[in-house]
Amino acid sequence: NQGIGSWPARRARMTPERVALSYRGRDRTYRELLERVYRLACALGGTLGVRRGDRVAFLGVNQPAMVETFFAAGLLGAVFVPLNTRLAEPELRYILEDAEAAVLVLGEERDGGGLPGRHVGAAEYEELIASGSPEPVDEPVSQDDICLIMYTSGTTGRPKGAMLTHGNLTWNAVNLLVDVPLAHDEVVLISAPMFHIAALAQTLIPCVLKGGRAVLEPSFDVDRTYDLIERERVTVMFGVPSMFGFIAQSPRWPTADLSSLRHLLCGGAPVPEPLIRTYQERGLTFLQGYGMTETSPGALFLGAERSVDKAGTAGVPCFFSDVRLVAPDGSPAAPGRPGELYVQGPNVMAGYWRRPEDTAKVLSDDGWFRSGDIGVADEDGYVRISDRINDLIISGGENIYPAEVESALYEHPAVAECAVIGVPDERWGEVGKALVVLRPDHRAGADDLLKHLDGRLARYKIPKYVEFVGELPKNAAGKLLKAPLRKLYGGG
Ligand code: AMP
Ligand code: MG
Ligand code: MG
Repeated sequence: NQGIGSWPARRARMTPERVALSYRGRDRTYRELLERVYRLACALGGTLGVRRGDRVAFLGVNQPAMVETFFAAGLLGAVFVPLNTRLAEPELRYILEDAEAAVLVLGEERDGGGLPGRHVGAAEYEELIASGSPEPVDEPVSQDDICLIMYTSGTTGRPKGAMLTHGNLTWNAVNLLVDVPLAHDEVVLISAPMFHIAALAQTLIPCVLKGGRAVLEPSFDVDRTYDLIERERVTVMFGVPSMFGFIAQSPRWPTADLSSLRHLLCGGAPVPEPLIRTYQERGLTFLQGYGMTETSPGALFLGAERSVDKAGTAGVPCFFSDVRLVAPDGSPAAPGRPGELYVQGPNVMAGYWRRPEDTAKVLSDDGWFRSGDIGVADEDGYVRISDRINDLIISGGENIYPAEVESALYEHPAVAECAVIGVPDERWGEVGKALVVLRPDHRAGADDLLKHLDGRLARYKIPKYVEFVGELPKNAAGKLLKAPLRKLYGGG
C-alpha cells in the first residue's frame, strides 16, 4: 500500500511510543492509533462491505474518529469525503447523494437525522472498532488512486467534488516540508476544521509524516488556543487570517507565553499586511501560503527568509509546483502586470468527481489548472494575489459563491432580481451583501428574506446586509454586471 492510509503503520514501525493525537486531555500513541485504524478498516471492509473506490463520508468537527476514518478508508483504497459541519441539511444531502457515499460516519456531536444512506453513529463506531480485528489490512493502493473528495462550491452554484490522489497529498506534504523545516517533535495545534484542505493537508498529514503530536480541537476558540499554546507547548499552528486576527486582539496577547511557537502558517484568504506586522513585532514569523482545494492546497509559499521584505505577497511557487500568470490575451503577464494564476505540478487534482465538463474548463490536457485568481509578480517572481475573476467571497476562511445564495434568494416569491457581492469586513475579511429588486406587487423586508435563507444555506453564506434597490445594472445582453455593483454598493 503506497497510499497515505499506510502512514500510521509506517510511523508505528519507526516511533510506536510517540504521541500521535491529543484530544480533550487524552493522548494516543502511534501504536494505539494504528491498532484502532486496523480495527476500523477491518470492520468497514467486513461488516459494512466497504470496497476499493467506495466513498466513506465523515460529518463532524475535528476529533480522533475523523483522523481514524481518514486513514482506515485510505487503507482500504476507499475515498474519504469530509463534510463541512456548517452546511445546512439540504446542502449536506446534495453532497452525500452526489458522492454516492457507501457509509456516513458521524462525529460524536452529530446525529444523522434527515441525511440519506447508511450512518455510523458514535456508539456504533466504538462497537465497530471493538469488533474489528487488529490484523494488518493490506490492499494494493497506488499513489494515483483517489484518496479524498473534497467539495468546493463553484461559480455555477452547486458544489463539485475535487478528487485528490494519495500522490497529490503526499507531494503537497513534501512541498510544505521543503519550506517549513518541521522537526520530529512538533506539537501541532489543529483547530481549523479538517473538512477543509488546509488543516488536513498542511497540518495533520505533514505532522504524521514527521511523527509529531497533533493536538485536535473541535473548533477554534481564542481562549482555548492560548491555554493550549501555553499548556501543551504548541510549536505549529495553521489559521486563516481571521483566526490570527482574533488571537492578536485578545487581552491575553501582550502577556501570554508564546515562546513555544516555531511556525505559524496562514492562508486561505488574503492576509492583511498590518496583521503580518503585528506578529512580526512580537518576533513571530508569519508564513503565508496561497492555495486552493484543487491544488491540495499549496501553490505559492512565502518562507521565513523573505517573510519581512516580501510581506504582502504570497511568495513563490512551492518547490515541486509551477505557477504562471496569464494575461487576458493568453500571453505570459510581465512583472508588474496582472495575470490569471495557473498551477501545474504533482499536487494538482485529478479532476472533479463525475464532472468531466467542469474539469475540462479548469484543467488542460498538459496539467495546467486555472485558479480564477489574479496575481501580479514582482521582478523577483514574488506573487501578490490582487483579485479574483469569479465572484467568490471569502468570509472568515469560508467560501461563499454568490450564485448559490442568489439562487436560494430567487426561490422567494417577492424577489424579482438579486445579486450578492462581497463587502470588506474588519473581522471576517469580507461578508456578503444582497442587492434585491422586489416584484412590484410583492412586499418583503430584509428579515423575511433572511428567514427564508435560514435552513436552506449554511449560516456563513447568509448575507450580513440586504439592500433593496430599484434596478440592477446589466449589459446589452441582459447579463448582470457585478463590477459596477461592487463600485456602487461595495463600501460595506
Ligand atoms: P478553497 O478552494 O476553499 O481552498 O479556496 C481557495 C481560494 O482562496 C483561492 O482560489 C483564493 O481565492 C483564496 N486564497 C487562498 N489563499 C490565499 C492567499 N494567501 N491570499 C489570497 N487569497 C487566497
Ligand atoms: Mg478556503
Ligand atoms: Mg475554489
